[in-house]
Amino acid sequence: MKIHEYQAKAVLAESGVPVPKGRRAQTAQEARAIAEELGGKVVVKAQIHAGGRGKGGGVKLANSADEAERAASEIIGMQLVTHQTGPDGQKVKSVLVEEQMQVERELYLSVILDSAIGWPVIIASAAGGMDIETVAAETPEKIVRVAIDPATGYQPHHGREVAFALALTGDQLRPTLAVVGGLVKAYMTNDASLAEINPLVVTADGRVLALDAKMTFDDNALYRHPQVVELRDKDEEDPLEVQAQDAGISNYVKLDGNIGCVVNGAGLAMSTMDVIKYAGGEPANFLDIGTVNDPARVVNSFKVILADPAVKAILINIFGGMARTDVIAQGVVEAMTTMNLRQPVVVRLAGTNVEEGRRIIAESGLPIIVADDLGEAAQKAVEAAAVVA
Ligand code: GDP
Ligand code: MN
Repeated sequence: MKIHEYQAKAVLAESGVPVPKGRRAQTAQEARAIAEELGGKVVVKAQIHAGGRGKGGGVKLANSADEAERAASEIIGMQLVTHQTGPDGQKVKSVLVEEQMQVERELYLSVILDSAIGWPVIIASAAGGMDIETVAAETPEKIVRVAIDPATGYQPHHGREVAFALALTGDQLRPTLAVVGGLVKAYMTNDASLAEINPLVVTADGRVLALDAKMTFDDNALYRHPQVVELRDKDEEDPLEVQAQDAGISNYVKLDGNIGCVVNGAGLAMSTMDVIKYAGGEPANFLDIGTVNDPARVVNSFKVILADPAVKAILINIFGGMARTDVIAQGVVEAMTTMNLRQPVVVRLAGTNVEEGRRIIAESGLPIIVADDLGEAAQKAVEAAAVVA
């Protein structure tokens, strides 16, 4: 789950990371009032769940309350396109109005889970700012990585290593250690998967603070962070993905193809997508239905898939372990008899209670295309989708 910059800054501030003074505004008038409180010289920043706002025209410096109001009226309501939003962009609903900083240096600092080693790593670079992707691609040696052993946790030497790599020594050492320690704490205590400050700045008066902030949280740990869940902004998420979550589906990601997939298990879902591609088709989604022992969940997954107008065929691929294929078969029959389905449905069942599952499908009298293995199922789904298209 992602959150907005203004929310991430509040989370970081709670862990001791200094951030500029400021507040969020939903109207230009509100932005003006905040700018007046802050003395006029402010920066007005679009709040959307995507980076690259500066280059897209979503970050504006204002030198008076008048200018802040004008900047906010330009940004609020705009369709902001950045390299992270996709070509349609994202509609801006609010702005963050903050005191303007006299920036001397722009650095990069983040904590992210390194899935290869299973440890969180601190990533830092003296070459921060809006082109960090280019730095990573062209001069990776300018990026420092410090891994944190989760068994012993954050240690002061981690912070010192980062501070020296960023050449933040002398008077800046102590504030830098507070920033690095605070960022790691915010990451750990909230079960984040990413906590990023880009840029971390050194100001003309020698302060070290987070000029930008981004946090992403591990969805599987949200149950133990109700205060994080409250920060969710569903308007920023794909509506189909929101519907899938509300329907209790473990994992749904919308894609660009036309074959809707219902699969149990993330690994099987990925191989199903591969095999569809191998058969010459394109999956419309990644969907891990989880361990289902309730036909209603199958019906819900059909609803989510069919809410995507691009879907031309549905492929059900279930390997029953803990999940019972007869229950899935009941769900498929229930979905097809209760919903007005135009798309052909291909079913491949294997594993627990498969004889019973196949019998339910066969005796339903519904036009279900049955396949014995995944290769055949993908082939049939691709052919069926081509006929409908
Ligand atoms: P992003 O483009 O979405 O990552 O948005 P950022 O919050 O990182 O802002 C983009 C850029 O605007 C930063 O890299 C800074 O160069 C600049 N910027 C933002 N706030 C200030 C400020 O208070 N003072 C100055 N001088 N520059 C700022
Ligand atoms: Mn940034």
